[in-house]
Amino acid sequence: FAPWADPDAKPLIRFQNVTKSFGDFTAIDDLTLDIFEREFFALLGPSGCGKTTMMRMLAGFEEPTQGRIELAGRDIAAVPPNKRAVNMMFQSYALFPHLSVWENIAFGLRREGKDKAAIAARVEDMLKLTRLQKFARRKPHQISGGQRQRVALARSLAKAPKLLLLDEPLGALDAKLREDTQFELMDIQEKTGTTFVIVTHDQEEAMTVASRIAVMDEGKIMQVDTPDRIYEVPNSVYVADFIGDVNILDGTLTANGENSFALHYAPDQAPITARSDRPFTDGQSAHLAIRPEKVAIHKEKPEGVDNLLSGEVLDIAYLGNLSTYHVRLPGGQVVKAQIANTRRLSRRDITWEDKVWISWTFTAGVLLDQ
Ligand code: ATP
Repeated sequence: FAPWADPDAKPLIRFQNVTKSFGDFTAIDDLTLDIFEREFFALLGPSGCGKTTMMRMLAGFEEPTQGRIELAGRDIAAVPPNKRAVNMMFQSYALFPHLSVWENIAFGLRREGKDKAAIAARVEDMLKLTRLQKFARRKPHQISGGQRQRVALARSLAKAPKLLLLDEPLGALDAKLREDTQFELMDIQEKTGTTFVIVTHDQEEAMTVASRIAVMDEGKIMQVDTPDRIYEVPNSVYVADFIGDVNILDGTLTANGENSFALHYAPDQAPITARSDRPFTDGQSAHLAIRPEKVAIHKEKPEGVDNLLSGEVLDIAYLGNLSTYHVRLPGGQVVKAQIANTRRLSRRDITWEDKVWISWTFTAGVLLDQ
């Protein structure tokens, strides 16, 4: 499933050079983006970067100041919110407290004037999809938070929208329930084939559920890609730093030929070697992004490894499944190494203030120019 890689695939949603201003403030800045049918698409970025504004324009609560938004090839500017095949599910769920679960789900269908039998059949389907059959007669205050979330989802999907917008849909749930619910959401999305666009602050949630993620900053999209590519091949220090933990070493490059570079990151230290397909030039300043789990830590100096650096352990964070070692290099930079605790007390032989060696392979880091 990768419609974005097919040049003939028609997007379900197309933002074409969309700008949205509030007075003289630009919330969305000349943004272009395609989202495809059946995608589970995540908008991710810091508070105020414009995620909600994107959703509100899709739902029809805001209009672009410039540019064009298409839904299935049609400009939606002229289509009022209630005529768009788009539904939005809010974090607060906005359920009617005096109506039963069944009535809440039926509400939108009733307003469309569908006949009774068709409404009942659709509500039953939605109850089944969200595993709420047993709770159909209860009121929202008589069910759990997770169940309320499923009612809101069932109600949003009842009218079979082409596009469902989910604004922090799991924000009100505690961590454990949230994780289970993510898988449920993915399952429901796949069963219905509805395109989901989710806004979340939680990068792990975006990585878990999404087919693709757009990382935003100040009304612009910094990178759109699959979760694994966003993590493994970020296009900038901003994206590398926003998703997961990362070490960044700054320096100047010399080209060694054949996509191989040396990064001079500290005087008196041997340069770091790294591979890159990008057209970096000799003498250019650059950044190396390296994930902590790609950094190995050694008590004794190993033989025959790339990028061997000496350092001193500043501190160690024990996280159960992993431990993170903060290692200070002679130039003062601190590199994080994350080691899986696969053996019991396996790494306890390395402790604070120990002189250690760290290393990573030639292909483990990503060279970035911005
Ligand atoms: P959060 O994660 O905090 O919800 P967000 O990424 O969803 O943030 P938006 O709500 O889209 O951000 O807001 C983007 C920017 O536009 C913010 O700086 C916000 O203050 C501004 N903004 C949004 N709506 C309006 C409005 N109606 N009038 C003026 N400024 C607005």
